[in-house]
Amino acid sequence: MDSVIFLSSETVIMLSQFVIFILSPAVFAALFFVTAPWGRHEEGASPLWGFRVPPMIAWLLQELPNFVCLIFFVRGAQAGKAMNAFLLSLFLIHYVNRTFIFPFRARLGRGTPLSIMLFAAMWTLLNGVLQGLWLGSYAVYDADWATHPQFLLGVVTFVVGMYLNVHSDELLMQLRKPGDKGYYIPSGALFDYVTASNYFAEWMEWCGFALACNSWPAVAFAVFTFANLSPRAHTNHRWYQEKFGRQYPPQRKAFLPFLW
Ligand code: NDP
Repeated sequence: MDSVIFLSSETVIMLSQFVIFILSPAVFAALFFVTAPWGRHEEGASPLWGFRVPPMIAWLLQELPNFVCLIFFVRGAQAGKAMNAFLLSLFLIHYVNRTFIFPFRARLGRGTPLSIMLFAAMWTLLNGVLQGLWLGSYAVYDADWATHPQFLLGVVTFVVGMYLNVHSDELLMQLRKPGDKGYYIPSGALFDYVTASNYFAEWMEWCGFALACNSWPAVAFAVFTFANLSPRAHTNHRWYQEKFGRQYPPQRKAFLPFLW
């Protein structure tokens, strides 16, 4: 696929990466001052955030644009290559869970404000186009790459990260009985080290993906994930400390085990 509407694929890749690298520090800094009002932070949210979309619908609509990667991948010159297809399948496996399994299993809160859902959908569209175009049209991997230590480390990191992410989300689900909307102190998985076991594990996944892809688009994805999730982890950590006081394990960090 040589062009996306009127821009060349190469231009779209360069621009998307540039936007993500510029956006990441801005998002990281802003999220220390603005707490996005969904989940535990939805109480008393300003109506300016927009009306509440039912959480299951919000998850579906905001994650579905990821699958646009398939269109750009399938039409690209590298689409038939096994390594490219394998790497794209890592991306897709994660988003099949996030889009079609997680929202139907989680005991979700009251709703996601429209503006947050739209921001998330714009991000997934941008990233879906970027990863699909890169792996479909540009990335050329030698046969040797399949046994390269960096690739193998990346795949193992991705798989362990995804296992811990799904397991952490499951542990959170099990904290509530049907109909319960309360919050409890989680334990297990990485929760004994960090408040945001699910977020840290998700970041691990995309770091592994970046190692395995060995590409700037995948690095941009991992950088943005850190920028988006780590401030939220910090805010949630403070929230737990205020809510549970001395009951909250004092050695537990917010996002990075033993560090932060
Ligand atoms: P949270 O950890 O805030 O919540 C996950 C689910 O568990 C929600 O249903 C929540 O309920 C419930 N829950 C959370 N903490 C407790 C608790 N202490 N006691 C009882 N129930 C609890 O995660 P998010 O909703 O922010 O994210 C869900 C998944 O999506 C994660 O795996 C995350 O990594 C991923 N994600 C990825 C992003 C990215 O940029 N790649 C962005 C955002 C999320 P409630 O909704 O009522 O709070």
